[in-house]
Amino acid sequence: MTRRLDNQVAIVTGGSRGIGRAIALELASLGAKVAINYRGGQKEAEKVAEEIREHGTEALVLQADVSKKDQARGLVTQTIDHWGRLDILVNNAGITRDKTMKKLTDEDWEDVINTNLNSVYYTVSAALPTMQDQQYGRIVNISSFVGQAGNFGQSNYSASKGGIIAFTKSAAQEVAKNNITINAIAPGFTLTEMLAQVPENIQEKILAKIPMGRFGQPQEIARAVVFLAADGDYITGQQINVNGGVYM
Ligand code: NDP
Repeated sequence: MTRRLDNQVAIVTGGSRGIGRAIALELASLGAKVAINYRGGQKEAEKVAEEIREHGTEALVLQADVSKKDQARGLVTQTIDHWGRLDILVNNAGITRDKTMKKLTDEDWEDVINTNLNSVYYTVSAALPTMQDQQYGRIVNISSFVGQAGNFGQSNYSASKGGIIAFTKSAAQEVAKNNITINAIAPGFTLTEMLAQVPENIQEKILAKIPMGRFGQPQEIARAVVFLAADGDYITGQQINVNGGVYM
């Protein structure tokens, strides 16, 4: 049985919809207090907070653009100021700006690297001092299978996701002695608004390449995050693939 997370404090970046929303709800279902971060979707974030409170626990809604270092670090300090501790940090916020190298602009590159990769450095560096004082912390970074496999038209996104994996393995080594684990989850194609942006004819081609013959559900990614947060005491520096077999 999964261990409960009563009285534990969690942050989920990009928790207003998609995979982040599913992670926030799954953590709350085990009793965790959850800070839901969003960039633009306040209404969606407030709705997730309501759903969290229905689980009988507490929620905090925090607007912050995690691609900006002050805002990303502020999100962590606001949560710690509010609840007095931080047990679980889930770096989930992410964007795509898919283009082939021929069309990719500096802005496309920088937006994706800042949002998907630099944000992870900002929040983790802000969270570690508190986790080290507590001698406890569970950090889960959402990568992607394309961080290992690469993908046509996703050089910026793949670089950000591969960077997350390398960062995870390095930082995990530095804080393992403090009972802080840092792991990555690499989802395959998952049914969210991010996937809905992909043209339908391309979605059909993708589907044909997935051994399990279907896209993933956000809850299926969330279950793996919760496993690491609640029961992964001796797992660190790992990447867990949750991808229907699309990359083995
Ligand atoms: P969605 O586009 O559905 O949701 C993205 C979330 O991130 C939203 O809550 C959004 O908030 C938030 N967000 C985006 N930019 C920022 C920012 N600068 N600051 C704070 N929050 C931000 O994406 P998914 O749920 O599909 O993706 C979640 C994670 O999973 C991402 O890291 C993605 O790369 C990864 N992933 C997804 C896959 C898929 O097939 N869906 C496959 C592999 C990995 P708001 O709406 O308020 O802007």
